[in-house]
Amino acid sequence: MGLTIAIDFDDTFGADPQAWRKVVGVLHEMGHQCVLVTNRPDEMGNDVRAEVGDLMPILFAGVWSKRSTAHNAGYNVDIWIDDSPQNIDSDGLTYIGQDRPAEEL
Ligand SMILES: [Mg+2]
Repeated sequence: MGLTIAIDFDDTFGADPQAWRKVVGVLHEMGHQCVLVTNRPDEMGNDVRAEVGDLMPILFAGVWSKRSTAHNAGYNVDIWIDDSPQNIDSDGLTYIGQDRPAEEL
């Protein structure tokens, strides 16, 4: 039975995209499903989309909790991979990092 594995972007997937691509590839080979879940809003997702490509679906939770966003998108997440797991259930987060403009990618 395949697992559903949610992976954060900032300071997680984005910390070493090359390594995570290999990990996600192995997980897919083993029959598991991966989904990237970030608290960034969609409009700050250029570098997320550039790094993740079509490797896995991307969910932009924005101010909503990652858990509710994944649930509403139909994902029943078994395992969360996140550098800030205390925020998985938090609503009202505001992304304060910097997105890179599309032309720089
Ligand atoms: Mg993070």
